[in-house]
Amino acid sequence: MTKPRVLIIEDERALQEVLTYNLEREGFEVSVASDGQDGVRRARSFEPDVILLDLMLPVIDGLEVCRQLRADAKTQGIRILMLTARSEEVDEIVGFNMGADDYVTKPFKVKPLIHRIKALLRRTMTDQQSREFISIHGIEVDRVNHHAKANGQILDLTPTEFRMLWALARAAGRPFGRNELMDHCRGEDANALERTIDVHIRSLRQKLGELGDVIETVRGVGYRFRGETDAATAIDIPSETR
Ligand code: CA
Repeated sequence: MTKPRVLIIEDERALQEVLTYNLEREGFEVSVASDGQDGVRRARSFEPDVILLDLMLPVIDGLEVCRQLRADAKTQGIRILMLTARSEEVDEIVGFNMGADDYVTKPFKVKPLIHRIKALLRRTMTDQQSREFISIHGIEVDRVNHHAKANGQILDLTPTEFRMLWALARAAGRPFGRNELMDHCRGEDANALERTIDVHIRSLRQKLGELGDVIETVRGVGYRFRGETDAATAIDIPSETR
């Protein structure tokens, strides 16, 4: 499990310290930048899940930082929570439509701020789970158009095989029991018995050709799609603070 990452772009030292202390205590990995330009640089290298972005910053201000982050493919998906000094500035953010995901007005309490950060992380995960398209290890599965490719070649899959590939790939790294796979694959053509899951898996692996080994056998459990990296990549969201 990797820790969720938060980048703080804020020039007030006292605020940097109190935020760093509390976020680290909550299980986040924290990086700090004191001006806008350094903030953009760190966003690219640190690859945070969430950025706490002060509006009034030296060198380049928060709105410009936001614009630059949204214009760069590497950073455009990062959740941004704006920290603003006055409530009037909120109108400015909304008016400029700079793409901040949320904002808090200073002065703010730390606990509610941490709740907002966690809410943003949950939204990120929900977005990923509701994806209709997966591309991993050379395999693409498009649920909208109902087709799958291996190394760019369209695969001729039965509906059961397609559903099985989708279920496994979208939860890459997680093992599925045969019963669970069967539930995912029940459809017009699938009154599959548990042992026929193995038959479908064998056929699916064959059709995936040289990529067939992305579907791994988990002894005593069933099957899983190989994880995105060897280490688990799931974001471990710290439990709610109350
Ligand atoms: Ca400031």
